[in-house]
Amino acid sequence: MGIVVQGLSHVYMAGTPFEKKALSDVDLKVETGSFVAILGATGSGKSTLIQHIAGLLRPTTGSVRVFDTVVDGTTKKLAPLRRHVGVAFQYPEHQLFEETVAKDIAYGPSNQGIDGEALTTRVRQSMEWAGLPETLADRSPFQLSGGQMRRVAIAGVLAMEPRVLILDEPTAGLDPRGQRELLEQINALHHERGMTVLLVSHSMAEAARYADKIHVMHKGRRVLSGTPGEVFSQREALEQWGLEPPPAAALCHSLRERMGPSVPEDLLTVEA
Ligand code: ADP
Repeated sequence: MGIVVQGLSHVYMAGTPFEKKALSDVDLKVETGSFVAILGATGSGKSTLIQHIAGLLRPTTGSVRVFDTVVDGTTKKLAPLRRHVGVAFQYPEHQLFEETVAKDIAYGPSNQGIDGEALTTRVRQSMEWAGLPETLADRSPFQLSGGQMRRVAIAGVLAMEPRVLILDEPTAGLDPRGQRELLEQINALHHERGMTVLLVSHSMAEAARYADKIHVMHKGRRVLSGTPGEVFSQREALEQWGLEPPPAAALCHSLRERMGPSVPEDLLTVEA
């Protein structure tokens, strides 16, 4: 098992009047090489959860294991978790700062001591993984389209060659075509390289199309887990948790595209 979250709770600003329990006793497992979606309304705890997996927050109670590295409330250094995990937060292009696309992508690996030919190769490879044409390497990232800037930011994360890639709402603000192209690219990379992907989203259509497994968060708890078919057959519950399932016909279309005729009957019989 690639990632094991056990009894994870997190309290922000503990002991102050602003104390907020953002996660309560979350158990979750992610198989190595799987594509997992984490769904939930705003404030349900998705971001807090992934920040633990990425080694950016320390558990208040419980533990997080990523491959061979375990972190709990007593762990002093979280950095070892970060070796395995790359995160693209929402609107990652806001972090771009270098003069050229290539320099921006090189920033992470060069901080790890990679240089010369190895660095050039890493940058070229990451651009390809992110679906960026080589001709953009010497352009300023700020002259690119929104979708291309997002890819440059994601290429910068991929350049660290993480075994786990976490994407927090990666398609936010992109047009439908850009959304589709970006996720197709990530999905291809996931299949080619066996990279574990955690997609944080509030789009059920995205989750239906790409995820092997979906976990649903509500008020800091993991309330439902299963395959897309299993999760989306719980329409009433999903609505109660503040998620708006797209029309059944659209979900069926997404599920059919990947599952073929094995879409569960109860999804196909809902009104279109
Ligand atoms: P989501 O990613 O699903 O929108 P979050 O993990 O961001 O949810 O938030 C879960 C809860 O924790 C929310 O009630 C939010 O207001 C609160 N929260 C998130 N970050 C902080 C923080 N830095 N300080 C205090 N409360 C926070």
